[in-house]
Amino acid sequence: MKNIVVLGSTGSIGKNTLEVARNLKDKFRVIGLSSNSRWELLADQVEEFKPRYVALNDCQFAEKLKYRFQNNQLKILMGGNCLKEIVLHPEVDIVVSAVVGAVGLPAAIATIEQGKTLALANKESLVMAGHIVMSLARKDQILPVDSEHSAIFQSLHSGKPAEVKRVIITASGGPFYDYPADKLSDVKPAQALKHPTWQMGQKITIDSATLMNKALEIIEAKWLFDLKVEQIDVVIHPQSIIHSMVEFCDGSVIAQMGMPDMKVPIQYALTYPERSPLCVRPLDLSSIGSLTFKKPDMEKFPALRLGYQAAREGGTMGATLNAANEVAVQAFLNGQIQFTEITSYVEKVINNHHFIKNPCLEDILAADVWARQEIKKCLM
Ligand code: NAD
Ligand code: MG
Repeated sequence: MKNIVVLGSTGSIGKNTLEVARNLKDKFRVIGLSSNSRWELLADQVEEFKPRYVALNDCQFAEKLKYRFQNNQLKILMGGNCLKEIVLHPEVDIVVSAVVGAVGLPAAIATIEQGKTLALANKESLVMAGHIVMSLARKDQILPVDSEHSAIFQSLHSGKPAEVKRVIITASGGPFYDYPADKLSDVKPAQALKHPTWQMGQKITIDSATLMNKALEIIEAKWLFDLKVEQIDVVIHPQSIIHSMVEFCDGSVIAQMGMPDMKVPIQYALTYPERSPLCVRPLDLSSIGSLTFKKPDMEKFPALRLGYQAAREGGTMGATLNAANEVAVQAFLNGQIQFTEITSYVEKVINNHHFIKNPCLEDILAADVWARQEIKKCLM
């Protein structure tokens, strides 16, 4: 029996994780849940899973939760440090990091330092500080939840690290891949929030539409699998059936496939190195008919080019790119900027920043703060 904590249990990955845990009650006990502000959903999850700890970023909502569970043994943590605090409890075996954004970094580091397994959906923590996180982690301590990285992780088992030639990350292309380039600036948030193949939180859905999500995934793959940037290719695959591939030195290409369903990579991260039965839509290739592939268009989707640039330059580039993007995505969702300005503002910020090649954690956090301030100046 393993004890798991779900950071961001009220989000898209968080809810899928609880569905996996619900079906594997004999293997996993949910002992911690956390959310930003959705306290009512969190309360329902507490009723069902009866965790020992719950963390809520918003203190006002945490008080409501306290009132509702006043006669209960439940320990309620609140405020800015609560994500980090909840992972420190000695009974925790696995932390599923399903929070969105830079807020996941301190908890990811704390999880690794405590020697616990980190099932990582929060790619932003690797984008910001991959060199720090990976240098602290032992082999297989971080298990990828991102579907592409889970596919690469599974495919890598077919050979040795020295036999890997390259990885090929697939991208659905998002809702606008075939949209006229000159009309992209007029795209509205409601259109961008309609992803063709995946149901996800708002931030990653917008990132998928700009292809910034793929940019972040290039950086994530570099750190997770210790790859050179030249070993990372991206291919547009609109059906999202092949989740990514690994090419070995003998020309063999191993792919992991399946209907798009995040429960598959989530469960694999939890049960690794074993597999457990999971009720998912079976892959029926003959009814799908054809799988198609295209070269990514970096002119139309410059975010991809920025992802390669940040992966190549390393240092504080990832943290700056990530922070500027978080603010730009929110500004687009608020109707403050156009869709195409998300990437153009991010590019401006990363190219103006004071680059540090070998940053410590404080440098990373300072770059994050700087980038947020800088892009907000552009928005004024
Ligand atoms: P989401 O918006 O649906 O959920 C985010 C969760 O984080 C919520 O529970 C929210 O309460 C919590 N949260 C947000 N801000 C917080 C804060 N300041 N403090 C504490 N908690 C906070 O997002 P999602 O789609 O589930 O994505 C989560 C992460 O997983 C992201 O990093 C995303 O890139 C990654 N990911 C998601 C998918 C997917 O299918 N949704 C796939 C691959 C990777
Ligand atoms: Mg992904």
